[in-house]
Amino acid sequence: MVAQAQLPPGAVTADALRAHVSFLASDALEGRNSPSKGLDIAAEYIASRFRATGLKPMGDDGYFQTADWTRSQVNPEGFVLALESAGKRYDIAYSDVTMDAAPATSLEGVAVVKLSMEEAAIAPDEAIRGKALLIGLPPIDRTVGQRFGALRRRLLKLSPAAAIFIAEGAVPPSRGGATLRSPADTPLLPIVVVRKPELATLTEAKLTLKLAAAIETPARMRNVAGLLEGTDLKDQVLIVSAHYDHLGLAASGKDVVFNGANDNASGVAGVLEVAASLAKLPTRPRRSILFLTFFAEEKGLLGARHYTLHPLVPLSQTIADLNFEQLGRTDSSEGANLDMVNMTGFDFSDVKTALAAAGALTGVRLVKHEKASDQFFGASDNLPFAEKCVVAHTVSVTYAFPDYHQLGDEWQKLDYDNMAKVVRMLGTGALFLADQASRPVYDAENAATANYRACHP
Ligand SMILES: [Zn+2]
Repeated sequence: MVAQAQLPPGAVTADALRAHVSFLASDALEGRNSPSKGLDIAAEYIASRFRATGLKPMGDDGYFQTADWTRSQVNPEGFVLALESAGKRYDIAYSDVTMDAAPATSLEGVAVVKLSMEEAAIAPDEAIRGKALLIGLPPIDRTVGQRFGALRRRLLKLSPAAAIFIAEGAVPPSRGGATLRSPADTPLLPIVVVRKPELATLTEAKLTLKLAAAIETPARMRNVAGLLEGTDLKDQVLIVSAHYDHLGLAASGKDVVFNGANDNASGVAGVLEVAASLAKLPTRPRRSILFLTFFAEEKGLLGARHYTLHPLVPLSQTIADLNFEQLGRTDSSEGANLDMVNMTGFDFSDVKTALAAAGALTGVRLVKHEKASDQFFGASDNLPFAEKCVVAHTVSVTYAFPDYHQLGDEWQKLDYDNMAKVVRMLGTGALFLADQASRPVYDAENAATANYRACHP
């Protein structure tokens, strides 16, 4: 056995973690919505800590990787939606629809093409492009929700004149009426879900649709990136990441701040302290480590996706992403999770070997949650990396916990002593991965990893 490098003695204290989390999750940062002033302040704080640690700035603006996006907000002004069929006109009020931000639209008495979800999914492109579509939407469950998402992406590519979904039951949750869009995104499209099941039987109709253009405002958001340069393998990079955004403010109430202490000020605090500890080592790890924090995870992994489309180090040189989430709370909804770390996609790669070894050294168990391990693989910022065939996992202390996405996710409720142990374990694991002879690989025997191995032979 070769003696493995370890974190410096005294690395990662409960006090340091508490200091980071209590600031990032304070009411002053107003829940770090993407985009918001609170998000910007959090980014400045992270950059400031990277500066103190002496990491190399990797962004286009010091430590910041800038995303100049647009926020498009539904504009209900002058909304008209009507269907005429067999001499009857059905006017649909704005209060009876759920819709995304749309472009200015003016359709008057245009014949619709009626399709089922199945038909719309496989219809030839010409049957969709430029057409006014009327599509039946079955009651939403998980499968229908996924099919709706996939169909929505197809429609955005093919640009029908409009897509009117008639919900036959419960409707997908509102997307808040606003979308964050990058300059590379497809143009907006009038996609309207109508909550009028009685209209589901219409087979032919003429559509009238008047929509005002979405209200667009600039949305500048930033990932924060700092590099700890390695030694003999420094062109290869391990990413240690966490999202720093959260849900922002509630519309009304006594407490309106979604503080997001465990989700995910705790993961950011972990990144900051792993960086600070590894930077103090007398000998640098062999590979470089890129410390990365993301915007807009809560809006659909947008910051991580932005990174994988514009990587600061080639993804082919990126050996793995170790993504931190929910490191502070031990009160899992299933009982106490002390001295243990969960990992999504536990059996997907050999990253578990390095982390289990780090756990043995630091007194923390790496565990596999039978149900959640695979199920949550696609639920955090590791996913965009996996989809580009980079080995990527999210580690956390708990999956579900009582204040998840609630106003009560506050910094006082975290167990900082346990968290310090966990972060030492994760820092040691990162060090092992950066130092080990071979790069981690997805398990070729595991069918669940097929999509994540398809980019490389
Ligand atoms: Zn999270």
